[in-house]
Parts: sequence; structure tokens; C-alpha cells
Amino acid sequence: MGSRLCANRAQARPQNSLHNLHVTAAPNNLPAALLALGDFAFIDVETTGMRPLEDRLTEVAIIRFSKNEPPRVWQSLINPGVAIPAEIQSLTGITNAMVRDAPSFFDCRDAVREMLQGAYFVAHNARFDYGFIKNAFRREGEAFTSDVLCTVRLSRKLYPESTGHGLDAVAARHRLFVDDRHRAMGDANVTARFVHHACDELATETVAAAAKSLLKMPSLPAHLPQSALDELPDSPGVYLFFGVNDLPIYIGKAKALRERVRAHFSSDHMTPNDIRLSQEIRRLEWIPTAGEFGALLLEAQLVKEKLPLHNVTLRRKMKTGFLTFSDDSEIPSWQLASDAEAFEAGNTKVLRIGPFSDKASARKWLMFAAREHELCDHAIGISRPRHPGEPCFPRQVGRCHGVCDGAESRTLHRDRLLAAVGALEMPRWPFAGKVIYEEQDATNDRCDLLQFDQWCALAGGERMPFDGDVYRLLTRTLAQYRHRFREASARAAQ
Ligand SMILES: [Zn+2]
Repeated sequence: MGSRLCANRAQARPQNSLHNLHVTAAPNNLPAALLALGDFAFIDVETTGMRPLEDRLTEVAIIRFSKNEPPRVWQSLINPGVAIPAEIQSLTGITNAMVRDAPSFFDCRDAVREMLQGAYFVAHNARFDYGFIKNAFRREGEAFTSDVLCTVRLSRKLYPESTGHGLDAVAARHRLFVDDRHRAMGDANVTARFVHHACDELATETVAAAAKSLLKMPSLPAHLPQSALDELPDSPGVYLFFGVNDLPIYIGKAKALRERVRAHFSSDHMTPNDIRLSQEIRRLEWIPTAGEFGALLLEAQLVKEKLPLHNVTLRRKMKTGFLTFSDDSEIPSWQLASDAEAFEAGNTKVLRIGPFSDKASARKWLMFAAREHELCDHAIGISRPRHPGEPCFPRQVGRCHGVCDGAESRTLHRDRLLAAVGALEMPRWPFAGKVIYEEQDATNDRCDLLQFDQWCALAGGERMPFDGDVYRLLTRTLAQYRHRFREASARAAQ
């Protein structure tokens, strides 16, 4: 009822109705078996450009299907508050003149919210529309989250043999013609009709199953309240699962909390551990962070502090280590990363290769590098000679240059060895000491200050144990955003 009122309100705007195209005849409702999953809000937006953070909406159209109710339709041109670039005007047909007297997103936000709230957000290339709607709400100081169903992915899943899943290709293939294509309502309408058509052609159950799997629809654990997963934000962060008492049974980190937590309970992706968690979980908590770093560090800290029953992460991480080569031997030793001495800044005498997740994978990597570069198995300790001068096995089949039987000099072999393993050499810490990294999440207006030293994170001033995930993220981030790291050097304090 309320939303039909909304549609009327929008159409009643005199300045708006002038510019609205005719409202396409209300589409037939979707099959009940599909709507049993929930409401489906088909949406399409037109914009001033391609970037959800900088560009603005110029038109929104929404068709909402609910069980036991006729479909509801809402659309409006939107004044973007900025000029529409000429090439976009000709692409969408929406001109500056058309939106001049249109309402702003602020004016439309209640109607848009009401049309979308509690429904699946369905669109062709849905990330685009979702990004724009989310940012439009954010600019008004409102958080908007929804479960997103992309009909490009749905089309791929339902018609894997077809090539081309853009809206033009889909419309042509299924003969879905409307006369206002490339405008928001026309495109939302084609998208809805595509899903309807697929239900007719392939059976509703097939479409529902595909939608369910794309939505990673969780089967709610037996002891969680119905609404437990609704409020999860899209932001990065750490989540904690609790059982019957106050100790977490599992702690995890996520780039997107909502998607990650729900994946634990979505039947397509459940691991044996997820099934156990699903049986034991009674409530959950989450702590949003500004980014991946913050999530990674907070997870490590909390896991270490609370030792949740079902966390294998920490135990797995304790096995991380390096192969080290000293000046006088070509046989590497295995050094656990948890060995604090490994990270003394002055320790430059050894060449450190890694990190590896455990000793066995380090050995495997070394053997592979040895074969690739025709190194000597005896010289690097993969095998042992039974008497001095015995050729190694690869030598016997022509895959070692012969440092074992004197055909290659030790110096040359050593140089080739160092070149071969050099790709995984752990670089020196590129700063004088501690650094501060500002991790920012513009979308959620959050900022975390994180500290690092010698490839390790600091928590409360203390260096945390080496963590391969932190290391990899650090090297990647340094390569791209070196300027975001500030030295918190002793020099500044002097
Ligand atoms: Zn050899």
C-alpha cells in the first residue's frame, strides 16, 4: 500500500511527470515459486558517468515484485546537481534540460528506500547500479545495504551455452522488446521480463535455484534469530561467532563482512567446519575496520587472545617459516617465523627466502627451483652423496651442471643458486624503523592507524609475531602506496 502511494506521489510531481516517459504497462507478476524466496526489486539507473563515487544519478526506475501483491512501479528523473557531459547526454538521451526541474536524490530518497527495502536488489550489471544507489544514500548520511542479484550472472548461469550476456544480447536472444530501451524504466523492464521468460522457458525451480546460489542465500543456523544476518555491513572487518557461553567459537576476517559471514551458512559453500559452526552458533558480533589490514591485524590479535575452538588459522600460521642461506653454505636451513631472532634488523648475513606456509612446502618449492635451474641436488641438500664426488641423480640424467662431480665450479653454482631463489628473497625492511599506515575506507568514512616494523604489525607498541598474510599485504601495499606510510622514527623523537 505504502509504496503504491509512493509511486503516486512521484507521478504527481508536476515538474517530474513532464519528463517521465510513459509508464510501461505494469508487468505480469513473477511466479510465486520464485517470490517465495522474497521480494525482487528490479532497478536500473542512468548517471552522469561511470564512477559511483564521483558521478551522480540522473534517473532511477524500480519495479518491485512481491508475493500475493501486484507489482509496484516507481521512476523519476533526478537532478544530479552537476552538468551531464555531452557524450553521456547523447548516450542516455537524458539532457541537462530534462533534469533541470527534476527532484534531487534527497527529494526521492524516501521513495527509493521504500521500493528497495527488504527486497533483493536485481539489476543487469548490478554492481554498477548498487554502487550508485549506495553512494547516493551515503551522501545523504544514510547507509544502504541489500542482497544483490546480478542478471548478467543469472543469464550466464541459466544459459551457459549462449555468448553475450549484455542487455542488448539478452533482449535480442529472448525477443524482449520495449520501446524505451536505454532509459531506466525500459531497461528495468527488460531485465524483469528476462527473468519471467526464463521461468517460462526453463521452469521456475531452475531459475529459483540459480538465484539462490548467486545470492549465496544462507540457510540460517538453527539457533540464530531470524534477523541475525540482516544488519551485517558491507565493510571490511572481523566477526566473532559465539556458542552457548561468552567465549567465541570462531573468529574470522572479511573484506566484506556481509558476504563473508553469509557464505559460512550458504549451502553451496559450506565446509565441514561451517557445518559444525552452524550447529553451535548462538549469536554473532562484528567489528568493522577501515580495510583489509585492519581486519587482518584485529583478527590475529583476537584469535591469539581468545583462542576460539574452531580457529585453525593461528595453528596453521605458527608453522610459517623461511629457508635461509648463510655465507658459507649452499644448504639452506629452515627457520620458523615465530623465531624472534629471525627479525632482528641487523641480521643481514643470511639470505632469507620465503615465507612458506610450512617446511614441506618450502622443500617442494626448492626442489622445483632446482629442477628448473638445473642445480645440484647434493649441493643444496635435497640428497646426500654416499661418497665424496658421487654425482647426484639429476647429474646422471643430464639435469645438473655437475658441481657434484667437479664439472662446475662451486662459485658458479652458488651464483646460479642465488639467482634461482632470489625471486622469493625477503627484502630488507625499507624504513629506518617503525612506520604508521593510515588505512582509509572512504565509503564508510572510517580510518585506522596501523603500525608496522620489520614486516610485522605492532599492537600496543609490541611487535606481533610474523604473519605471512600481513607480509604479503604489506609488500603489495608498499609497491602501490608507499607514500601512505609515515616513518615514526626515533629521529623525530630526539
Ligand atoms: Zn649434482
